[in-house]
Amino acid sequence: MILRRRRFLSLLAANLVAIVNCRADAADWTDAVEMPTLFIGHGSPMNAVRDTAFTRGLRAWGASLPRPVAILSVSAHWLTPGTTAVSTAARPRTIHDFGGFPPELYRIDYPAPGAPEVARRAGVLVREAQVLHDAARGLDHGTWTVLRHLFPHADIPVFQLSIDYGQPASFHYRVGQELRALRRHGVLILGSGNVVHNLRATLRDAPDDATAATPWANAFDEFVRAALSDRDDRALLGYEARAGAAMSVPTPDHYYPLLYALGASDATATAKMVFAGFQAGTISMRCVQFGA
Ligand code: ZN
Repeated sequence: MILRRRRFLSLLAANLVAIVNCRADAADWTDAVEMPTLFIGHGSPMNAVRDTAFTRGLRAWGASLPRPVAILSVSAHWLTPGTTAVSTAARPRTIHDFGGFPPELYRIDYPAPGAPEVARRAGVLVREAQVLHDAARGLDHGTWTVLRHLFPHADIPVFQLSIDYGQPASFHYRVGQELRALRRHGVLILGSGNVVHNLRATLRDAPDDATAATPWANAFDEFVRAALSDRDDRALLGYEARAGAAMSVPTPDHYYPLLYALGASDATATAKMVFAGFQAGTISMRCVQFGA
């Protein structure tokens, strides 16, 4: 009799957990504050452990945002030429995808849970490409070095969408547009790159939070600022024709994440400049929030 009762209680407990999980999942998807979209200039992986105006700015920014149900990061450090993928790991590992940095950086773990179900739903929204599921992929440093400051408790589920590096700027903008609906379900869409990113032309001894940069980096960063302020999305898609573009965007990996954040925002949403500055003279740390 006792055994039977124990078995009944354990079955009841298991079912209650299942019901609670199911309810949480349904509520998460229907009842949520509409989220803005963000673009973050992530710069050096060392920003994960630095205390600078930039990292303090990320902390203040995170505290000002409504709490997301989940975060979708499109990072410059997940490039998949020929395909687009979402990460569906329930427990994404922290990827230390860099070399030559101090040991402390390799010990950092950002233990946020994944969001497999939201990731699958995100994949369905994309019509431009057939989105593959990658259950092994973790969080790269474009994602965790900034989330560590933005959401230091690592308690919000995170997943990533890869960048099909074989596609042009317009493709990335359109995929961003197709993901727009996620915002209504409380998903914070975050593009992580740098609008100016040239590691071959860096200036030695440039201070961390410099406001000045090389003339071409200044010119291109100013073009981006003005085009964002005017919501001249077409100009941002045609960035290659602009002054300083060849040096500022020698490869587009760090520029494309901006197009996801831009595409996923409402066309009339204002672009609020949250941070501006340069690291090493050739890396723009510009950060932008689209919408309230
Ligand atoms: Zn990077």
